[in-house]
Amino acid sequence: MTDRQARDLPLDAHLHTDLSPDSDVPIDDYAQAALERGILELAITDHLDFEPGAPAFGYSTFADRERIVRGAAERWGPRGVTIRFGVELTYDRSWEIDIREHLAHHAYDFTIGSVHDRLDSPYHPARVRGWVAGRSLAEIVEPSFVEVEAAARSGLFDALGHLDVVKRYLHPHVSTEAFAAAPELYEPILRALVESGTALEINTSGLRHPIGETYPPASIISRFRELGGRAVSVGSDAHHREHFGWALADGYERAAEAGFGALTFRRGEGRVTVPMPTAIRTGPNGPHGRSL
Ligand SMILES: [Zn+2]
Ligand SMILES: [Zn+2]
Repeated sequence: MTDRQARDLPLDAHLHTDLSPDSDVPIDDYAQAALERGILELAITDHLDFEPGAPAFGYSTFADRERIVRGAAERWGPRGVTIRFGVELTYDRSWEIDIREHLAHHAYDFTIGSVHDRLDSPYHPARVRGWVAGRSLAEIVEPSFVEVEAAARSGLFDALGHLDVVKRYLHPHVSTEAFAAAPELYEPILRALVESGTALEINTSGLRHPIGETYPPASIISRFRELGGRAVSVGSDAHHREHFGWALADGYERAAEAGFGALTFRRGEGRVTVPMPTAIRTGPNGPHGRSL
């Protein structure tokens, strides 16, 4: 496996620890790796589900997550690794009221809203082939994209996670080329992000999945910018040690190539910007001085 683990970057804004049901990484492992590789700031964004029966429903309590993440932040801050207490909330209109209620009473430094597979999802491996058959791409993605657009419009989150992760569930039945040929399907989501001011996450986990591109791809990040989008974040979405910071520099480069001079983040209070590292901004693939 080629080493795509990033070095010397200011922020990885999407990480899962063993406080998520699908991760086995103690938080200190990420902090140690960050120290060794010069990743200065981490957002720990463990899963929170509101659908009874979903894997992260009641998996870890807010109190435990807060205590463990803030405890690690105290230990690692003096050593040069800043750790933020974030969360990745699974969004669906069915439980928007629950999410709103939760966020009103629980303080996080940074929040990601993401659409994942529901238990009854048509993209379940046992159902996806039947779902795709005879449907147009618009019809195929509709159950996911309608929720993604609602998440973008809700204004509940700092960032919208892995916008088109449905590509992963649809692989290999629907190609990335088919998605690339239908940018209009993304348009309402991008406009909702612009209108609500929610950041578009560039999620680099797709670069280690069979689809081999970020969620969303470069063309969509550029279109977001054209439509007036000014806030992006970048995260590796690691669930395992070896994926910490995976292809993170590629995510930064996608942002820079689209014209973003900084990432948008939050550290509990108001929004902050995290400038692109000089190596990205002025590198061979960088935008040479384009600014936020
Ligand atoms: Zn996710
Ligand atoms: Zn995640």
